[in-house]
Amino acid sequence: MRTDTIAAIATGLSNGGISIIRISGENAFSAIDRIYQSKYKKKLLSKEKSHTIHYGFIVDGKDIIDEVMVTIMRAPSTYTREDVIEINCHGGIVVTRKILETVLRQGVRLAEPGEFTKRAFLNGRIDLSQAEAVCDIINAKNDIALKNSIKQLKGRELEIIKSIRDDILRDIAFIEAALDDPEHITIEGFSAELYNHLNKYSQSIDKLILESKNGKLIKEGINTVILGKPNVGKSSLLNILLQKERAIVTDIAGTTRDTLEETIRLNDITLNIIDTAGIRSTEDIVEKIGVDKAISIAKEADLIIYVMDSSTPIDDNDETILSLIREKKTILLLNKSDLLPKITVNCIKKKSSHPIIITSLIEHKGIEELEQLIKEMLFKGEIAIDEDIYITNDRHIEAFTNTLEAINMVKKSINNNMPEDFYSIDLMTAYEELGKILGENVGEDLINMIFSEFCMGK
Ligand code: GDP
Repeated sequence: MRTDTIAAIATGLSNGGISIIRISGENAFSAIDRIYQSKYKKKLLSKEKSHTIHYGFIVDGKDIIDEVMVTIMRAPSTYTREDVIEINCHGGIVVTRKILETVLRQGVRLAEPGEFTKRAFLNGRIDLSQAEAVCDIINAKNDIALKNSIKQLKGRELEIIKSIRDDILRDIAFIEAALDDPEHITIEGFSAELYNHLNKYSQSIDKLILESKNGKLIKEGINTVILGKPNVGKSSLLNILLQKERAIVTDIAGTTRDTLEETIRLNDITLNIIDTAGIRSTEDIVEKIGVDKAISIAKEADLIIYVMDSSTPIDDNDETILSLIREKKTILLLNKSDLLPKITVNCIKKKSSHPIIITSLIEHKGIEELEQLIKEMLFKGEIAIDEDIYITNDRHIEAFTNTLEAINMVKKSINNNMPEDFYSIDLMTAYEELGKILGENVGEDLINMIFSEFCMGK
């Protein structure tokens, strides 16, 4: 197992002004000693008591990067069971990144997504279900979803699964014992009893599947609105995003629908493009949809992508819209960069503080940067998602379904008066399938996959 020291920006739940950089591993203390400066006296954090918090500065040589609070926690009473340091800084992408970069120059490497949680799992601190719940929590911005995740952390689902598993194991043990020692243990009448047990298991598992599926229905998505004046490239952007998702683009510019809702999945982020009625408008957008409508669209959105045509100068419409969306999470696309520019990045920066991406949609340029930026904003908790986020792993549903199938096989065997050892084979399958949810009999690949999903910095 890896024992090197890792660090990452741990995404907080709130959109507040504090960011946390987490370091875990053997070199955590030596790394922080080199870059931390106490406010009042010279002290090394490695000499301080465990589970204490310290006020000071992160420095890069002589330069102070930020004023911070540093929490120090020694193994094994930590999240990963390794030495853990958490640097609370004032946030802001640039500062947070700078601190992380400084940490990474101290013999520490960047954590893979989910690696902290993976270490917690590998070091026996949490089981796989709990680890998945942690991943959910990171992404859960909604109370309901959060409660679900916490419930899972507390192991509600886990308890049910464990108890069914124990019962199945008892059934198997009984059958095996009876077959081994028929003189003392009679299996007479056991199939009727087993049948009742099986019904009970199926009922519980049906419920678990239903719950998992409900979780899936409220699955996450960033409500995204593409705004912009006519002809700036909104449809082109939507087309490119759609094409990235599926090879065949249907008639998306269809005249029959005036609102268009598309769910676009880009690697591991989902965009729900909502109410893009204005997208294909050939008229002035503010006139066409009205300022009120524009405001309400903007209000609905988690994220606005405001497309501008850099080959035409900024006008009043741009100014109106930019001021309307000042408070919203917005990405400005400065499109048509292949043409002679009439708007420069500097000129927009004077009018708006939103991040800017230069694109030439006709040449498919800038799309990767856009995706990357959205992903960063999401991981850093900058995009506030009103939608419930509850990532239920398909893996759970699959394992439950396989368990049900195995249970039904046992029922079939009972109905067909098959010999008892047939029962235990399928019971064993059911037992193993449920075990997959608890992280038993799970291959390394699957574990890696789970931990890399949505678990940046945790
Ligand atoms: P919308 O009205 O905002 O949806 O704009 P469209 O996506 O329909 O694009 C309007 C026109 O601009 C079309 O002729 C596009 O081919 C063109 N266009 C879109 N993106 C670019 C670009 O990056 N460069 C250039 N030169 N033309 C573009």
